[in-house]
Amino acid sequence: MTFGREEHLWIPESDLDGMSVDTLAVRAGQIRTGQLEHSDAIFPTSSFVYGSAAQAAARFGGEEPGNIYSRFTNPTVQAFEARIAAMEGGEKAVATASGMAAILSTCMALLQSGDHVICSRGVFGTTNVLFQKYMARFGVETSFVSLTDLGAWGAAVRPQTRMMFIETPSNPLCEVADLAALSSLAKANDALFVVDNCFCTPVLQRPLEQGADLIIHSATKYLDGQGRCVGGVVVGPAKYLDEIYGFLRSAGPTMSPFNAWVFQKGLETLPIRMRAHCDNALELATWLEGQPAVSKVFYAGLESHPQHELAKKQQDGFGGVLSFQVKGEREEAWRFIDATRMISITANLGDVKTTITHPATTTHGRLSPEDKERAGITENLIRLSVGIEAINDLKTDLTRGFQALKD
Ligand SMILES: *Cc1c(COP(=O)(O)O)cnc(C)c1O
Repeated sequence: MTFGREEHLWIPESDLDGMSVDTLAVRAGQIRTGQLEHSDAIFPTSSFVYGSAAQAAARFGGEEPGNIYSRFTNPTVQAFEARIAAMEGGEKAVATASGMAAILSTCMALLQSGDHVICSRGVFGTTNVLFQKYMARFGVETSFVSLTDLGAWGAAVRPQTRMMFIETPSNPLCEVADLAALSSLAKANDALFVVDNCFCTPVLQRPLEQGADLIIHSATKYLDGQGRCVGGVVVGPAKYLDEIYGFLRSAGPTMSPFNAWVFQKGLETLPIRMRAHCDNALELATWLEGQPAVSKVFYAGLESHPQHELAKKQQDGFGGVLSFQVKGEREEAWRFIDATRMISITANLGDVKTTITHPATTTHGRLSPEDKERAGITENLIRLSVGIEAINDLKTDLTRGFQALKD
């Protein structure tokens, strides 16, 4: 007689139904080998062996499940996919080489020539280029509309509209989309509603529960959280994910096992990191609002934010990214940025290290002056991706910026 749980050692996720995202982040999707390792194993192998020629034939023929070749079957990648799918509440996930590869794979698998896309205007710059320059070449036309103007979304719909694509909150002005309203519009028009959930992560927002059809992530940002690897993932129901997986198998923008392992370990600390990012960002946003040299702060956690109530309703926190305008022009913004000493001057975000960016000349530098104006990317705008350093040390560093504006 034994009261042990030997039989469970092989199936470490046997009792996870209904558990919270914090638990799933640590426990879901682990594949335990016969070595009974406690931490997640890594499988850096390009191919797999078979017990017989007949078994190889059955694997290739799809009659027997199992690993074949790491362009499309790798246990480490599958473990990461299972964990993020569980956290987002999605049936399946497909990991990709980058966030952009996740968006490209979704478009290639689910759109065709003649289809029309509506995309929110403030999306990640390269997403904009992908739709405007490359998808357009293959007969997919994209209209760009304001994230928060529901009337404009309705007016942009055409009979050919097949996809609505958004990021919420937006970068860098933290505008918040109404997920329920956009989801209804998409459903009424038989269009896929795709949400890039990079800024919130499943810890703060689970768009599938709020009517989205597919979730996109740049895993490069918060999912890793420590700036080590580039990767992406798509999450959603099998009917779409099987198509995306088919594209990935044929075209090959695959995530490497090593990167998948880093992301899988990154997910374990995602919930506590996101809460630390949110706490620091809210504290800094409030502090910045009280600075005489600041003309405006953009952060959905502030009561002054136009979609504060909506953000409270559909998110479990306001995120780690905020932006603010200093009084003046580009010169003042640059002087502020250059006076900081600890905070990293880089365009990356979602890192435990705080980063500072001048959007008008970096991330949004490719926009025309009219598009910048329409998107609210002014020359005096500064973006912070707030990390998890001690809040007082962040204030000390930013105070150097304010001092430089006085000098
Ligand atoms: C960075 C980013 C992407 C692109 O991801 P990569 O991993 O750099 O390819 C897409 N969407 C958002 C919101 C991003 O911040």
